[in-house]
Amino acid sequence: MSFRNFKMVGYVVYGRGSFNQLDEILAPHRKPARPGDGENAPMIFLVDHFFEGKPLVERIPVRGNDKVMFVDVTYEPKTTYVDSLAQQLKDEFGGVSGVIGIGGGSTMDLAKAVSLMMKNPGSSADYQGWDLVKNPGVYKAGIPTLSGTGAEVSRTTVLTGPTKKLGMNSDFTPFDQIVLDPELTAGAPVNQRFYTGMDCYIHCIESLEGTFLNEFSKSYGEKALQLCRDVFVNRDGWDVECDDKLMMASYAGGMSIAYSQVGVAHAVSYGLSYLLGTKHGIGNCIVMNHLEEYYPAGVKEFKYMVEKNNIDIPAGICKGLGDEDFNKMINVSMGMKPLWENALGKDWEKIMTREKLRALYEKL
Ligand code: NAD
Ligand code: ZN
Repeated sequence: MSFRNFKMVGYVVYGRGSFNQLDEILAPHRKPARPGDGENAPMIFLVDHFFEGKPLVERIPVRGNDKVMFVDVTYEPKTTYVDSLAQQLKDEFGGVSGVIGIGGGSTMDLAKAVSLMMKNPGSSADYQGWDLVKNPGVYKAGIPTLSGTGAEVSRTTVLTGPTKKLGMNSDFTPFDQIVLDPELTAGAPVNQRFYTGMDCYIHCIESLEGTFLNEFSKSYGEKALQLCRDVFVNRDGWDVECDDKLMMASYAGGMSIAYSQVGVAHAVSYGLSYLLGTKHGIGNCIVMNHLEEYYPAGVKEFKYMVEKNNIDIPAGICKGLGDEDFNKMINVSMGMKPLWENALGKDWEKIMTREKLRALYEKL
């Protein structure tokens, strides 16, 4: 038996207004690209395009030749996008002091991947998988503006590449620093906040109901679940405390799956995202709506939260798809072996047949 020995985030700061400490936090990490260079290499701020022209941009501690780059997260991050951002930085600056991602899960994943690609040869697609990254990246920090994905604590960065949608999972992937400032999530639209928040809720259900569960995962998962309930079940309306709680739920939910695994909703949702480009949060919700058989209590509560918070969950997204399309989704989904094993046990292939999965996709 070998126990997972996982790398965690280096430094964590939490609190309303902690973003104001960013300048001080970054100062010791501003370094020349090469010893002897007179000038420090720049910090690169990759900022979710939503914030272009918003007051947050004025608060970014830009010094010297630092650069703020707005990243397009209309689609989830692609390896081609990561490669072009890293190339652009190498061409313009040679080296950089660090990469700081400010945004939702997509922006944080981009920041992690670009940091790694500043120090690893080839394309990010070469590193999609487990422990393929060879060298540590440049200093990287993550600053979430949406709560739920757990990307701030995870050892992966989910990328869509030429042949697969898979993360760069490695010990070099976690951030050196995260800044958890719930104020930054205050303006998120109701639906988006719910979809991303449900990513966390679903992480908890999948972790707590899974066969990989141990006390480590359970401790974090139960706490995260309670925080999600405080926000989406036990409260009418949204206030600042909800932002505080959901940010910690995301963190704890991420810590829970670090030592367990996600399950059916994620395995099925990956197929949707691969074929139809369905985004992670909403895709998980679309699937969760139909998983009574696997997570009866979780699905019941999920439906209650959808209704209580007045959220629309799209339906009928697989209408009109042909055999070839269904097979593509089934292949991607069936490929997520650890997820199925966590959800259904070692004999999962006997339980989740292709026919059964097809029937599930047809319902979505
Ligand atoms: P997102 O980052 O894709 O952003 C969703 C939308 O919200 C975008 O339009 C964005 O511009 C907008 N937005 C972000 N912050 C906002 C704010 N404060 N106010 C208003 N709008 C805001 O959404 P997400 O759900 O946080 O992240 C999903 C991504 O995270 C996917 O790409 C998924 O693959 C990835 N993910 C990664 C991990 C991991 O461990 N690395 C885990 C789960 C999901
Ligand atoms: Zn997720």
